Amino acid sequence: MSDHAEKTGRCYACKRTFSFDPKEVTTFLIDPSTGLPPGITVLGSLRPARPEAVARSADEPICPDCVARAKQYSEESGSGRPWDNRPPSSN
Ligand SMILES: [Zn+2]
Repeated sequence: MSDHAEKTGRCYACKRTFSFDPKEVTTFLIDPSTGLPPGITVLGSLRPARPEAVARSADEPICPDCVARAKQYSEESGSGRPWDNRPPSSN
């Protein structure tokens, strides 16, 4: 007998309800006052995470589909540095 503690939750990214194993699932720390991870502004830029923002934040589960998509995105965008993609300027 396996004591798999499956839980059901809503994916933070796509709002899909899915079941997951709390021990295995990927979670994201989300600040409920902004709906974003502490340390990321609404504009998507980084800022130092305030301790109070981290303290009130909760782990939100992410479904495997979104994890795979995020991984693929980071692999694609990680192959080249975005600031190197500008055409060479001829002064
Ligand atoms: Zn999702």
